[in-house]
Amino acid sequence: LSYWGIKEGDEVIIPSYTYCATANVIIHSGAIPVMVDINKEDFNLNIEKVREAITEKTKAIIAVDIGGFPADYNDLMTLINEPKIKAKFNGNSDRQKKLARILLISDSAHSFGALYYGKRSGILADISSFSFHAVKNLTTAEGGALCFNLPEQFNHDDIYKEMCAKILHGQNKDALAKTKKGNWKYDVIEPGFKCNLTDIQAAIGLVELDRYQENLEHRKQIFDAYSEGFKNEPWAILPIYES
Ligand SMILES: *Cc1c(COP(=O)(O)O)cnc(C)c1O
Repeated sequence: LSYWGIKEGDEVIIPSYTYCATANVIIHSGAIPVMVDINKEDFNLNIEKVREAITEKTKAIIAVDIGGFPADYNDLMTLINEPKIKAKFNGNSDRQKKLARILLISDSAHSFGALYYGKRSGILADISSFSFHAVKNLTTAEGGALCFNLPEQFNHDDIYKEMCAKILHGQNKDALAKTKKGNWKYDVIEPGFKCNLTDIQAAIGLVELDRYQENLEHRKQIFDAYSEGFKNEPWAILPIYES
């Protein structure tokens, strides 16, 4: 949100059912989280409720893939590209003006590895964020990852460099680069954050990534066992996981 220039006076739409982090980051940016209702089938953002909540102040929508089931990104993309909705949009940073529509963000904390119309979670929205916290399917104890998938007017090599500085106090070189001969000098190009994934966490992540598919298959067996156990209970609503 900081990268996108979202600030006081802006609104960001989120589902009413999610973990608090989705709303907290909006509060930190100074903007207002606007909560809208969810579908009763998949517990994800309801498109018509999103439509009703869009104002001239809306800068982004953060969809959440609850329980790993992706939100309806095709419908959300179609909605934010409708001429009437695009006409309402007021971009007030260079990046917002360049996109010229509401930014679609995916809170993919639950959906690592999920498929939506044959595409993997991570490229379903403009920007997706994964959490590698200890309770997630893939963990590095703490940490996460951002995936950028912006339209062609954006240069993803530039974004990578900008983000590397932003997550490391605004430094334009990381610790490893600085240890290289003749490379001690660096600049601080902005008042950045300190939220880099450490090399130690990345090392854990690489091992976890190798065993991920196997872990998913085990989780599927657990899921099937519960579904089987509850399927004849009249009071139980089984979660959908395919459509
Ligand atoms: C876990 C979670 C987050 C936050 O992840 P952190 O790595 O703790 O910042 C965000 N959104 C959802 C839906 C989550 O479940």
